[in-house]
Amino acid sequence: MTTGFAAIPASTSYRLTNARSPLCLIEGADLAADRDGLALVDLRVEDGRIASILPAGTEAPEGGPRLDLDGGIVLPRLVDAHVHLDKGHIWPRRRNPDGTFMGALENVMADREANWTSEDVRARMDFGLRCAFAHGTSAVRTHIDSLGKQIGISWPVLAEMRAEWAGRVALQASPLFGIQFALDAEHMQAVTRAVKAHGDGIFGCVTYMIPELAEALDIVFRTAIENGFDLDFHVDETNDPAARSLEYIAEAALRHRFTGKILAGHCCSLAVQAPQDEARIIAKVGQAGIAVVSLPMCNMYLQDRDGGRTPRWRGVTALHELKAAGVAVMIASDNTRDPFYAYGDLDLVEVLREGTRILQLDHGPTDFAAMIARAPAAIMGVADKGVVAPGLSADLILTRARDWTEFFARPQADRTVLVAGKAIDRTLPDYRELDHLMSKSA
Ligand SMILES: [Zn+2]
Repeated sequence: MTTGFAAIPASTSYRLTNARSPLCLIEGADLAADRDGLALVDLRVEDGRIASILPAGTEAPEGGPRLDLDGGIVLPRLVDAHVHLDKGHIWPRRRNPDGTFMGALENVMADREANWTSEDVRARMDFGLRCAFAHGTSAVRTHIDSLGKQIGISWPVLAEMRAEWAGRVALQASPLFGIQFALDAEHMQAVTRAVKAHGDGIFGCVTYMIPELAEALDIVFRTAIENGFDLDFHVDETNDPAARSLEYIAEAALRHRFTGKILAGHCCSLAVQAPQDEARIIAKVGQAGIAVVSLPMCNMYLQDRDGGRTPRWRGVTALHELKAAGVAVMIASDNTRDPFYAYGDLDLVEVLREGTRILQLDHGPTDFAAMIARAPAAIMGVADKGVVAPGLSADLILTRARDWTEFFARPQADRTVLVAGKAIDRTLPDYRELDHLMSKSA
């Protein structure tokens, strides 16, 4: 059992004093930020909820139990808008032979066909959720590979997991299949049925340049409108500037006057467009109200990889330009220990640290922590998460780091995670638990 550095008072009512929290994530009276965008506050916790947030030192010291955080950064529990729980942790039985995108695609497909039974998917999903929970995540959107027999296997397991994890991690899912399958009416009916029976009102697929792209997107948008679904796409995960399916999605959204939420993931090739093309596409994305999630760790692993040649590009989309145009932007985990990304642990503190380095989120606006908290919470429709506010559950991540340089220099392995005001056991599951599933080969 490990609960991190903080000794939380045993009382149901206590104060956390001298906490530093990003101004973009905290709501309270008269808060002012330092040059890191952090506000020094005292938080009162009562019966598992945040009762009040005041500038530090406002209240007279009193006899009640309190923990002085001595300026340590406090975050809300975090929100992961893009992961693949169904692919997670298959690496030992199915590696990516060369670290390329095609290597990932082919090897995941082979492993899925051979090994993804209910038992296998359930065990790996649960493992991933335990990692995410222990690191301090409160909500997760996973994608579910949705082709052929897998539809009937994975979606019922997802529904079981959502129920089992309710109250600890809010789980939601979006289907994943190649856009060309949208042209197959039987396939679309099967996925729509699965989402209606087991899903969360979210529909989606992977988009790339096929001759019938506009027509296929029309089918996806019509399906979403008929069923009241939001949309979530994997978009242009390539360095080929000819890949402009993001523009097609924006045009389809405008054409259909779509009023649901749309999240576009990856959008890598946007960063390699000629400036005038990039500006035009970004303007359409903004007009269509599409939010964009970048997956910095996975993109840097897969993109611009060409055996033996040193990569020249970090693989990420034009996130600063999107943000400047008013597009809602965020970052997320993506894959964990599977052929799309050999590493990862669904730790959003790691994602923020690496995302800040890869995307150079530092030396600019200080609201970047919103990208793993408020922004994904908004697109996922869980507005009570990713924010520290009076009346909300005291779901917090406490650290010893007093500013962003201390925060990003170390992995914050000694952090304390509170759920409803109580410190959780942060012990991570042991990989050995999955060994019995890894002996099979595809
Ligand atoms: Zn993904």
